[in-house]
Amino acid sequence: MTSAQVSNVVDIPTISVEASDYNPALVVIDMQNDFVSGSLAVPDAGTIIPTVNALINLPFKARIATRDSHPDNHVSFAKTHERSEFTTVKIYHPEDKEKALGMEQTLWPVHCVADTEGADFVTGLERMKFDAVIHKGTHPSIESYSAFRDIWGRGETELPKVLRQVGVTDVYFCGLAGDYCVKYTAKDSVDYGYNTWVIRDAVRSISSSNLSWDEMSKKGVKFTTFEEVRDKLRSIV
Ligand SMILES: [Zn+2]
Repeated sequence: MTSAQVSNVVDIPTISVEASDYNPALVVIDMQNDFVSGSLAVPDAGTIIPTVNALINLPFKARIATRDSHPDNHVSFAKTHERSEFTTVKIYHPEDKEKALGMEQTLWPVHCVADTEGADFVTGLERMKFDAVIHKGTHPSIESYSAFRDIWGRGETELPKVLRQVGVTDVYFCGLAGDYCVKYTAKDSVDYGYNTWVIRDAVRSISSSNLSWDEMSKKGVKFTTFEEVRDKLRSIV
């Protein structure tokens, strides 16, 4: 592990899957207390918990959860910069000594600090059924909205490795927030070569605008619903 590691995985799945044209995986993004009812709550986030649980119980080849898991001095916190929340600053990867690639960082309230209640999975989520849990944003100076890699694309999480190991062809995303971590993860999923689906009725967003859906659609992300996914997966078992 390098100091710039962006995530750690709690469990690597030991699933053996036969090669197939259709190996679907479910990725549940950031269903954590702070995003449901805590410091950075997404509107109506709690209403998708039953749908997410129903998805977890479908016959996916792998069920993977992601969690924002920050140190208490994380670069995305307004408090770290002594600035106002929801303003922006330019941030650089810690190995980018020349400051060649600055990224505009929105400064958030303190959220999902590792080993706090806010970072824990939301109550009621069927967490025991996850084959793997990917933590992201674990380095103080590195932000990672995508569950695949950091915002500069310099460091990967273990998600690509886990998906390769399982032989996944199609990745289905649900969770929070549709206009941040779900969007960036789904767009990266297309770049990593997966058939990429966002389950719209199992996602909630911070903004009510359609811009993020348009952005995902242009990238090649496809949209579906819980019922469509349920019918499709039941038909292959
Ligand atoms: Zn975060």
